[in-house]
Amino acid sequence: MDMTIDAVVVERMLEDSKGTKAEKLDEILDRAESLRGLAPEDVAALLTMDSQPHLARLFKIAGRIKEEIYGERIVMFAPLYVSDYCVNRCRYCGYSCDNKFDRRRLTLDEIRNEAEILERMGHKRLALEAGEDPVNCSIDYMLDAIRVIYNMKAGPGEIRRVNVNIAATTEENFKKLHDIGIGTYILFQETYHEPTYFRMHEAGPKRNFEYHLTAFDRAMRSGIDDVGGGVLFGLYDWRFEVLGLMLHNQHLDRTYGAGFHTISSPRLRPAAGMDMSEYENLLSDEDFKRVVATIRIAVPYTGMIISTRESAEMRRELIRLGISQVSGGSSVEVGGYAIRESGGEQFEVADSRSAMDIMRWLMDEKLVPSFCTACYRKGRTGDRFMSLAKSGNIKNVCLPNALMTLCEYMMDYGDEEFRLQAASLIDSNIPRIKSDNMRELTKGNIEKIKSGERDLFV
Ligand code: SAM
Repeated sequence: MDMTIDAVVVERMLEDSKGTKAEKLDEILDRAESLRGLAPEDVAALLTMDSQPHLARLFKIAGRIKEEIYGERIVMFAPLYVSDYCVNRCRYCGYSCDNKFDRRRLTLDEIRNEAEILERMGHKRLALEAGEDPVNCSIDYMLDAIRVIYNMKAGPGEIRRVNVNIAATTEENFKKLHDIGIGTYILFQETYHEPTYFRMHEAGPKRNFEYHLTAFDRAMRSGIDDVGGGVLFGLYDWRFEVLGLMLHNQHLDRTYGAGFHTISSPRLRPAAGMDMSEYENLLSDEDFKRVVATIRIAVPYTGMIISTRESAEMRRELIRLGISQVSGGSSVEVGGYAIRESGGEQFEVADSRSAMDIMRWLMDEKLVPSFCTACYRKGRTGDRFMSLAKSGNIKNVCLPNALMTLCEYMMDYGDEEFRLQAASLIDSNIPRIKSDNMRELTKGNIEKIKSGERDLFV
């Protein structure tokens, strides 16, 4: 059966969990600490509790899980917007069909050019983004775009993984996306609260709540086994939305053997044609941190993504609470890497630092920026990825791959100062690789990369 969600049932779960006794909260947090994840009912109790000591413990556990499972590595990616034509009228979105501006769809040459610019920034992993317009931005156009990106070779590197964030589509189209070799299919539910969904999505195909909600069922049936969920925080009550995500994750896990590969937590930002003061459910920074920490402990093996919608300071805090992937040097505008001027953004970004500045900043924090794309290329996707992750074995490959891709980056794109900083970070992290064999292999590969070999991964 496909995913369904009943707002009344979710509200009742939250209501029933209010006032959960301290001993029960202790027991839930004990379980979270053992990295086994939590059931939606447990998450409901954590979302509605107002005990400060338990909240402090929740944050602590999130930080510990982040360290234990993900260590110091942070995966880097960049969005690539190819078309802002859109037939939907979504109240919150700058691409809403009601907004009048000169819309663009990149030609294949322009897409190649954008991908080249991103490649010259050192990026290896992109999230392809587009508005929904079956005529101006058909599935065949998206497939051509992906083909062009994968075939592009300009500087020393290449784009090795294209994740796709486009509108919900048919099983047949998902099959085409699968066959061309996309990484993760990403789709934000925006809100799991059906009445709010209808209020926000005033017209267009996206107004169909059920079709949007069941997109991952069609994607999974078509063979895509890495799917990435998310909600747009600020549209409805954050507790409801986190529980919605958990119920969706449980459905995917039970039905297809793997829950979300990633969860994104975009927070509503100002955009053309919308007025932030109309939104009653905007989250405070404290509540937003609680959202990230709660998701972290509930689904410890799911990657968590934060974009440039958040400020540098907020991103610093969120990384410590469980974020494992960040975008950097991002433009949220069609053709934005070539022109770098504002006008057609989907929303305002809060962190406009370059990719290299973000990497320097991560390294200052003793974190290891990673351009790893190994799992997907080694076939470690879906349930295979999840079983490796749950057995704790995934980290045996994550740190080596992070160090090798950082080494590649420093050799190909870094200046003298960057190289010094990265080389010392690599040296100090090699002893952290637990397996003797893997440590030796990584050391050898780092030397090979320094002398010119590329794209080594385990
Ligand atoms: N058209 C596709 C769809 O319908 O899912 C792709 C979505 S769009 C390129 C990526 C995401 O940006 C949306 O799913 C939405 O969550 C987010 N977004 C839209 N307006 C936003 C705003 N004002 N602030 C923050 N995020 C926004």
